[in-house]
Amino acid sequence: MANGIPGAAAPARGQPPLVDPFGRSIRYLRVSVTDRCDFRCVYCMAEEMTFLPKAQVLSLEELERLCGAFIQTGVRKLRLTGGEPLVRRGIMDLIRRLGRHLDAGSLDELTLTTNGSQLAKYATELYATGVRRVNVSLDTLDPDRFHAITRWGKLAPVLDGIKAAKDAGLSVKINCVALRGVNDGEVHDLVAWCGREGHDLTFIEVMPLGDIDGDMGEGNQGGMVRADQYWPLSMLRAELAKRWTLTDLPVSTGGPARYARVAETGGRVGFITPMTHNFCESCNRVRLTCTGMLYMCLGQDDAADLRAVMRGAPGDDDALLAAIKEAIARKPKGHDFIIDRRQKAPAVARHMSVTGG
Ligand code: SAM
Repeated sequence: MANGIPGAAAPARGQPPLVDPFGRSIRYLRVSVTDRCDFRCVYCMAEEMTFLPKAQVLSLEELERLCGAFIQTGVRKLRLTGGEPLVRRGIMDLIRRLGRHLDAGSLDELTLTTNGSQLAKYATELYATGVRRVNVSLDTLDPDRFHAITRWGKLAPVLDGIKAAKDAGLSVKINCVALRGVNDGEVHDLVAWCGREGHDLTFIEVMPLGDIDGDMGEGNQGGMVRADQYWPLSMLRAELAKRWTLTDLPVSTGGPARYARVAETGGRVGFITPMTHNFCESCNRVRLTCTGMLYMCLGQDDAADLRAVMRGAPGDDDALLAAIKEAIARKPKGHDFIIDRRQKAPAVARHMSVTGG
């Protein structure tokens, strides 16, 4: 224990990172703290999902311990995601405890990806724990369309949550999955709204992760398959260029998005293109599920069972650190997603909500 924080490294600033076989330094851990969500987005989940039994899900203490172990290996950025991270009971306790790594200087950033439904409740507290930025997923500004996409969600509380986050001092980045025939008529409105509100906006190509049967899923009358949903961002960008002056910005965030400045709003628009141009060469991240499986790549099946290591050797950080090192030593070069009508099965069986988007 260092700095009074269980699992905290001693002097962690400058801690050399773990480096994978392709020379990429692993500085970024995304943690899915729950597989549960209060929405059922049509491209993300089936409407009837079977969630994990509680015994399989890591406790908050186990999540904290695992995050601490990653920080000891040189991870400097943690992102909590899910499922919906803010619906996990006790989540603020975990965030508060992880925030102490920020105070100790052993972590540079603690952040979240959220659907925004609980942000109004938690924004102020999040800021107090040291969180400074949140990504909010928002695919439309139209209430009916919002309900159709999320199946269960309501737009107004999400907009209230975004406002509360801004008022609390958090910077908000909006993530929007580009869906052909669904929100493709709205991209100009989203750019204008984000410009006015001062939010970065990132568009994301839909990825073939998990089965999505249901009202837009394959097999339903008039249903929508991924091949229908998929809208390449090259086409979205061409649409944007009809109304906005976009100037590419130098690649600087280290993340997968490529950004452009929108002259008319002064805002930034990002493009995440896992389908048309993957960004694996600069991947600095690994992903932990709420059951303690560590995925070294979003689009591959290989994983390391850290829950088994942790529960098999309670209190033995060395075993955990060795397991993390061994896993990163086999991080694959990248993924190769394909969406077409002949490809019926998803590229990977697990949903984004499992791996943590
Ligand atoms: N509930 C939180 C939220 O809505 O942001 C966090 C988890 S959610 C799985 C994270 C992100 O993954 C969301 O932005 C969502 O739109 C995105 N996502 C889910 N399934 C996807 C898919 N098949 N392709 C691309 N993005 C996806």
